[in-house]
Amino acid sequence: MRKFAKVTLIQTKELDTSSELSLLGPEPLSPLFTPQMLKSRLLLRPNGKIKSVLMDQRIVSGIGNIYSDEILWASGIHPESRVVNLPPSQIRRIHNAIKTILALGIDFKGDSMSDYRRVDGRPGKFQHHHNAYRQTGKRCSKSKCLGTIARKVIGGRSAHFCNSHQILFQNTLN
Ligand SMILES: [Zn+2]
Repeated sequence: MRKFAKVTLIQTKELDTSSELSLLGPEPLSPLFTPQMLKSRLLLRPNGKIKSVLMDQRIVSGIGNIYSDEILWASGIHPESRVVNLPPSQIRRIHNAIKTILALGIDFKGDSMSDYRRVDGRPGKFQHHHNAYRQTGKRCSKSKCLGTIARKVIGGRSAHFCNSHQILFQNTLN
């Protein structure tokens, strides 16, 4: 069974040494989260597929299935690209998209496509702004792109991506 959340009460003075928090990757909306930090975190799993690595909470905190689909759509990167094959320019694109998409998710007060609700019980509105997640079969909404949104299971999760503008980065030596 997948776990969506956990609530733990920790004293402020024990935050830094909490075993629960020390397992989590950095908070991507922190000013300390630079492209260089993203690169070094991703390279902890160099042969991983970028979608699976982005969703790994030990690598970066807070990115799940919906946001990883939207981040990779915005970056123009195919979810099966392996970390080691991504050039620095593409890491910067992902970094930029992480900041933009997560901030957008917060602006729209979360994503209630499924059962997420705000503290007061009202739904968020980010689900009305998906370009990739669960858009299977629809024309890509990126300007001038003629692609269609495809779906494929990657690492046990459904990935949704444009079959045209999201590029699969591969090892050019093979
Ligand atoms: Zn497209």
